[in-house]
Amino acid sequence: MSFNRDRFLDFCESIGCGYKTDVPLKDQTTFRIGGNASVICEPDSAKQIACIIKNIYENDIKHFVIGRGSNILASDSGFDGVIIKLTKSISDIKLIGDTKIYCGAGASLSDICMFALEHELTGLEFAYGIPGTAGGGLFMNAGAYGGELKDAVISAHYIDRNGKLCEINVSEMELSYRSSIFSKGGMLITDMIFSLEKGEKQKIKEKMDELIGKRRDKQPLEYPSAGSTFKRPEGSYASLLIEQCGLKGLTVGGAQVSEKHSGFVINKGGATFEDVIELTDKVRDIVKKETGFTLELEPVILK
Ligand SMILES: Cc1cc2nc3c(=O)[nH]c(=O)nc-3n(C[C@H](O)[C@H](O)[C@H](O)COP(=O)(O)OP(=O)(O)OC[C@H]3O[C@@H](n4cnc5c(N)ncnc54)[C@H](O)[C@@H]3O)c2cc1C
Repeated sequence: MSFNRDRFLDFCESIGCGYKTDVPLKDQTTFRIGGNASVICEPDSAKQIACIIKNIYENDIKHFVIGRGSNILASDSGFDGVIIKLTKSISDIKLIGDTKIYCGAGASLSDICMFALEHELTGLEFAYGIPGTAGGGLFMNAGAYGGELKDAVISAHYIDRNGKLCEINVSEMELSYRSSIFSKGGMLITDMIFSLEKGEKQKIKEKMDELIGKRRDKQPLEYPSAGSTFKRPEGSYASLLIEQCGLKGLTVGGAQVSEKHSGFVINKGGATFEDVIELTDKVRDIVKKETGFTLELEPVILK
């Protein structure tokens, strides 16, 4: 059942929360796929987020939180509900003491890495170039080149279903490979703290340059995508299995298994949600049949 949009928009206006209506999700996701979202609201403080969340649960409104949209596959039929997008006002980055960094959930991971570099702090170099926000990163326990956010984060705040601001320590976050307690729903991350170590600026910069260079060499960054399309199965690598099965370049409509990096499905132009699903189903079936490994989609489906 559709929600009462006018009533929700009146509520946004009453608390001064910005919003847009009928927003193409293809403009909100790095895959550049997806129909219209009925409403995207952009609260600019934890207090506004809390009011929005409370209203959404009280009125049983379908909703979804979006960061940079870099790990999302959105349906072509769009989203008949409310998307909560964290704006620039939830993206402060601050130093706490000598070695800790506080950031709003909307801060970009790469900006946080640059901030760490400026303050000669080591421990987050691996995250440089992951094109998401801190909130999306923690939700996914984003990682690369041997590091994961779980190695650096120590605590976070989130807003629960009742609109209450809660604190959570890393030991309670259930962070494991591309998974966290936040995926159980009802927890909107507002900010977090990373604990890093003092390092040498030159060495930190060299590491960041090396890793961004690897990304540019190996990843099809010239095409829209959601990054790695499949999670790493235990005991192997999705890209290796896909390559072994000769699936590089396999195409359905506008979606293609990248020729440059077989772990990425790219949008070659005009790819639809259905194209990606049909292609990934094919890849999954062939890999299962030929190697016995089961591949699981990494991007979150938004529909
Ligand atoms: C070219 C490319 C390279 C990539 N490389 C990597 C990589 O090396 N390692 C890696 O791990 N990932 C990688 N990714 C995937 C993606 O960038 C990460 O998963 C990133 O952390 C997602 O952040 P986001 O802000 O874009 O989240 P979104 O894609 O917007 O959202 C992802 C999920 O997080 C939830 N979410 C977002 N913000 C919040 C919040 N504040 N509170 C609660 N839930 C929230 C959303 O509801 C959604 O379920 C890559 C993607 C691309 C396109």
